[in-house]
Amino acid sequence: MVETGVEQVVVDQVNEQMTKAESVIALERECVLGNYSRYPMVLERGKGCYLYDTDGRRYLDLISGIGVNALGHAHPRVVRAIREQSTRLIHCSNLYYHEYQGKLAKKLIDASGLDRVFFCNSGTEAVEGAVKIMRSHGNGIGNGKLEMVSLNNSFHGRTMGALALTGQPKYQKDFAPMLEGVRFIDANNLEQLEAVVSDKTAGIIIEGIQGEGGVYPMTAAFLEKARELADKHNALLVFDAIQCGVGRTGTYFSHQAIAPHVKPDVMVTAKPLSCGLPLGVVMVNERAAAAIRPGMHGTTFGGGALTTRVALEFMEILVDLLPQITRVGEYFRQELRELGRKHSFVQEVRGMGLMIGVQLAIPGKDMVLEGMKHGLLFNCTHDTVLRFLPPYILTEKEVDKAISGLRKVFRSI
Ligand SMILES: *Cc1c(COP(=O)(O)O)cnc(C)c1O
Repeated sequence: MVETGVEQVVVDQVNEQMTKAESVIALERECVLGNYSRYPMVLERGKGCYLYDTDGRRYLDLISGIGVNALGHAHPRVVRAIREQSTRLIHCSNLYYHEYQGKLAKKLIDASGLDRVFFCNSGTEAVEGAVKIMRSHGNGIGNGKLEMVSLNNSFHGRTMGALALTGQPKYQKDFAPMLEGVRFIDANNLEQLEAVVSDKTAGIIIEGIQGEGGVYPMTAAFLEKARELADKHNALLVFDAIQCGVGRTGTYFSHQAIAPHVKPDVMVTAKPLSCGLPLGVVMVNERAAAAIRPGMHGTTFGGGALTTRVALEFMEILVDLLPQITRVGEYFRQELRELGRKHSFVQEVRGMGLMIGVQLAIPGKDMVLEGMKHGLLFNCTHDTVLRFLPPYILTEKEVDKAISGLRKVFRSI
């Protein structure tokens, strides 16, 4: 009678007239803050590039937790690192040393060309760190040097400092007043950049590729001009590489592909770094590091032994994956363009590496739902941009699967 347990579960479900997915959703509706509008799908497990829901349906994961699950799901080396480290030491606070912060910092210094690293827990928290560095840098010079220059259509996070830098009124409007002194200009607009940066500027913050804003890459000329003006006015140049960073573009950081000779003073990243565990970083050169002295900044959880150990494992795997990211990303864009030629609502395919946006002439929300029916997970940002942030382990074989699914999705529209 081994099946008894299973039968009992089935009976319970029938009694309650609810599937497992339905009861999960019902409980959340009752108890969880209503800030998300989730898709009606309950995920249970994943393996490689695939995810499985509670009904056992399989999906090709082309969004990887919004650019987080960089090595896909249940990667054996990630699983092993978590298993080993969790039996030894998960967290000890920043009161004490453990061996992995320094080792990971060294890897990030080598990858970025910057000098020092601060560890935190999320993207927005890394941006908060950058805001404090910009402010402290400006205050150290004085004369009202407190302005921060950011871009329209940018996204830097949801906490009050990061929100103040986010150039999208829809995210700010309910939380006024914002932090003062933030000036917004258009991405890639050299004239506006030249006009806005002055001796009052403490820092300039730029996403190498705007992610949430619809996958818009910066030009080399814009990054060069930002570097030149930051130097001229003693401001800090900050790159937000939270979504486009740590391998996503086939280089460690997107600016290394766009304008390799331009180096920021500060760079923040988070999403893929610890393969799903929460870890953010602020990387700085010595000039920016001078703005932070002992006691001025900190965090309880940041840089714990488990998250940094897993990130170290990730960095070791990433070296060998970079060429594949470039190759598969190019193939994916090429196939998307080919498919797009048959549908007039596809206007453009943008992006670098495995950060890809398909610009539509129509809203993309229904295509996301249709994609789910055909076993594909991706999302739609800025109403009309289909966004793909697949795991770095994606191969041509999965791209072919994605394209054949998308062909059906596009035909259904
Ligand atoms: C996701 C994101 C953030 C915020 O990161 P969280 O971890 O969600 O706080 C900031 N900047 C960019 C570019 C992002 O994509």
